[in-house]
Amino acid sequence: MKSKASRWTKQLQAIMDIVYSNEFNLTADEVYAEARKKMPNISLGTVYRNLHKLVLRGYIASVQKGQVQTFFKHPFTNAHFECVKCKRILRVPFDLRTTDLSKKVGMEVTNFELRMTGICKECESKCT
Ligand SMILES: [Zn+2]
Repeated sequence: MKSKASRWTKQLQAIMDIVYSNEFNLTADEVYAEARKKMPNISLGTVYRNLHKLVLRGYIASVQKGQVQTFFKHPFTNAHFECVKCKRILRVPFDLRTTDLSKKVGMEVTNFELRMTGICKECESKCT
């Protein structure tokens, strides 16, 4: 299944992986330094563009710290699927709203995080 709406590039995935493999907020420069280990040809501009793309799509969060903007994994709302084989973290469509959750648990849910693990389609197809 391919989604036309969102092109998921290798760079985008790599940048998201970097953000998600860190417990702390990262600046774009730090993400860039990390990204260059994997993709020596990546430019700072590409890193910036992809970081902002991820923020806009709600995959990662960003916060201004003094003069610098930092990025960190999204603490809530989105459902993620982590592949146990390739360790990629994919966003999965999961239409569950805090209002629905609030009804279910009987308390006011303001945020939630759903993390699933399993084997992604790519790894599944590699299995023989
Ligand atoms: Zn996988």
